[in-house]
Amino acid sequence: MASLGNPKETIEILNKYHFNFQKKFGQNFLIDTHVLDKIIKAAEVGKDDLVVEIGPGIGTLTQYLCEAAREVVAVEIDKNLIPILEDTLSAYDNITILNEDILKVDLNRLVQERNGGRPVKVVANLPYYITTPIIMGLFEAHVPVENITVMVQKEVADRMQAGPGGKDYGALSLAVQYYAKPYIAANVPPNCFMPRPNVGSAVIRLTLHGDKPVVIKDEALMFKLIRASFNQRRKTLANGLNNSEEIKLSKELITEAITELDFSPSIRGEALTLADFAALSNLIYDKQG
Ligand code: SAM
Repeated sequence: MASLGNPKETIEILNKYHFNFQKKFGQNFLIDTHVLDKIIKAAEVGKDDLVVEIGPGIGTLTQYLCEAAREVVAVEIDKNLIPILEDTLSAYDNITILNEDILKVDLNRLVQERNGGRPVKVVANLPYYITTPIIMGLFEAHVPVENITVMVQKEVADRMQAGPGGKDYGALSLAVQYYAKPYIAANVPPNCFMPRPNVGSAVIRLTLHGDKPVVIKDEALMFKLIRASFNQRRKTLANGLNNSEEIKLSKELITEAITELDFSPSIRGEALTLADFAALSNLIYDKQG
């Protein structure tokens, strides 16, 4: 049975090991069992699953994962947490702890070796300072993953889930939604953590698409167009693309593409759906020859 997930046990462990929180590692440990249950439920962890946990901390969420999954691999950067994890997880024989930086782990290899290349689940209360590199890294390296269920800043979860038109919609929404279907499973207030973060948090599940929702001739080009369109939010799409440092497109080509796609000449990037960006990028790709 999981013993952590409440303030009393957490404080006992921290005192036993004279642990000092390291701000630079984004350490905010969960102390609420309801939130832990919600994460496990949202991730749909079952006895066939290999789960990769990023940043186990003192092993709170890890205990819940070990109960629910076949096997858990937990990657923790802070070497001071390793003896604590060996203690709090000693009752489980289905856990491997790696003292590494998640951004440097070859996850494709790990999934190949431990799960025969079959998709794994990624579950984490993420260190907020590297939320985007972790998630985009998983997508872009094409790691076999069924779903990613993570605690992130509420504001980031809202941006990941946002659709066209609103203030939260932007490059992150489009990048995430190209690879996965987002679902916000819970909003989590600061008092569920020790120490309390300064921002609200949310649990978001990203279920990776079997087939991508749009067919793209050149992914890199589409993401350059998306970044250019949102770099200057208040500008029209045409001006955003025209002023881009990253892609050099002639004014004529931009106008031609916008006209051919029947977009209004004054349309802004924030009005375009993923399908619109796909069409724009495929057309520009063809025009560039
Ligand atoms: N999972 C624990 C919990 O829910 O109580 C701790 C979550 S805490 C928000 C983030 C954890 O990620 C910390 O334990 C921190 O040391 C670890 N961490 C930070 N940067 C990391 C990195 N680059 N690679 C692996 N772990 C990292």
